[in-house]
Amino acid sequence: MSLSKDTEVIFDSHRGHDYDSANPPLYDSSTFHQKVLGGGAEYDYARSGNPNRELLEEKLAKLEGGSYAFAYASGIAAISAVLLTLKADDHVILPDDVYGGTFRLTEQILTRFNIRFTTVDTTDISQIEQAIEDNTKLVYIETPSNPLFKITDVRAAAKVAHDHDLLLAVDNTFMTPLGQSPLELGADVVVHSATKFLGGHSDIIAGAAITNDKTLADALYLLQNGTGTALSAQDSWTLAKHLKTLPVRFKQSVDNAQKLEAFLQQRDEIAEVYYPGNNKLHLSQSQHGGAVLGFRLKDETKAQAFVDALSLPLVSVSLGGVETILSHPATMSHAAVPKEVRDERNITFGLFRLSVGLEDPDELIADLNYALKEAFNDSTTIGQTEEQHTSR
Ligand SMILES: *Cc1c(COP(=O)(O)O)cnc(C)c1O
Repeated sequence: MSLSKDTEVIFDSHRGHDYDSANPPLYDSSTFHQKVLGGGAEYDYARSGNPNRELLEEKLAKLEGGSYAFAYASGIAAISAVLLTLKADDHVILPDDVYGGTFRLTEQILTRFNIRFTTVDTTDISQIEQAIEDNTKLVYIETPSNPLFKITDVRAAAKVAHDHDLLLAVDNTFMTPLGQSPLELGADVVVHSATKFLGGHSDIIAGAAITNDKTLADALYLLQNGTGTALSAQDSWTLAKHLKTLPVRFKQSVDNAQKLEAFLQQRDEIAEVYYPGNNKLHLSQSQHGGAVLGFRLKDETKAQAFVDALSLPLVSVSLGGVETILSHPATMSHAAVPKEVRDERNITFGLFRLSVGLEDPDELIADLNYALKEAFNDSTTIGQTEEQHTSR
């Protein structure tokens, strides 16, 4: 019987593997026995390669529709590897709202090695084109962006990049390979923070880079081995296991997110809701709106009271977990951005990001409903708050 791509890849269908257990064995080893001196054993030293990482990379490559995948110790390590394929004097174009850790990496580390960066609003393709210089080598985009869910046209960005002999890299963390396939849309390399949806259980930090380009793949492997940033055997084993539930987790989270979005849209306390599912361009290049949304309270002075009254979401930095995670960009991911710049970019104190998990959506809605009412009801005393909360 022939199996669908996802089934074969994700569920470790036993065919083709030399183990009978439901999950592959964990090769908890830094080194491997070499029978023949100079005999080119498949594995010699685990930094350079080990069976668990290889199995994971095979899954990641197939999921993303690429020929080569490399698993790294974090999303930032994967992004570093992509940027370190460049050399001094090379120039890169980045989104002005690029993920904070990627900005820190470029601004505080890679510029010391004379790799140069220009940030533009990549949602406006003409700004990408205008930023291209003689030494530009790479256009790097994130879509949807964080925290305002701006959408960049991946096909158009790929066209501009390729017209000028540049490579296009896409951070696909928010949509996962199941929601958006940048390689099919023309990208040359895709990066992921596998810490988020791919891992999905808020238990590991991991990253990946996937490509069809053999030259780029060789460079990414050299960096993985040569800078020692590969994902460990243990974390590779865990991540490969978590990938088995990615389709069902992501589908449920997307369904729940759509329900929460509809709820938030009709609330008086909310000034704006940001959800890629309402964006035509996004839907022309993706399967759906994903499972993360943003919203802004009408009165930002209620932000703490709102958080105080919530029971369900984990209030933290991150996304893509089985639990719903509420983030506060102004004090978390974008705290290092000066307040004037944050205000200019509309990252205000009333802005929240919600990564919707697997809880019962009706319970999530009831929790948000309660917290919004509590926060915006000035007359309630603390005593009443507690009473109402426990009797709910
Ligand atoms: C979290 C994140 C990263 C960084 O990944 P780590 O695994 O934390 O190193 C990069 N890009 C995006 C969009 C992210 O959300």
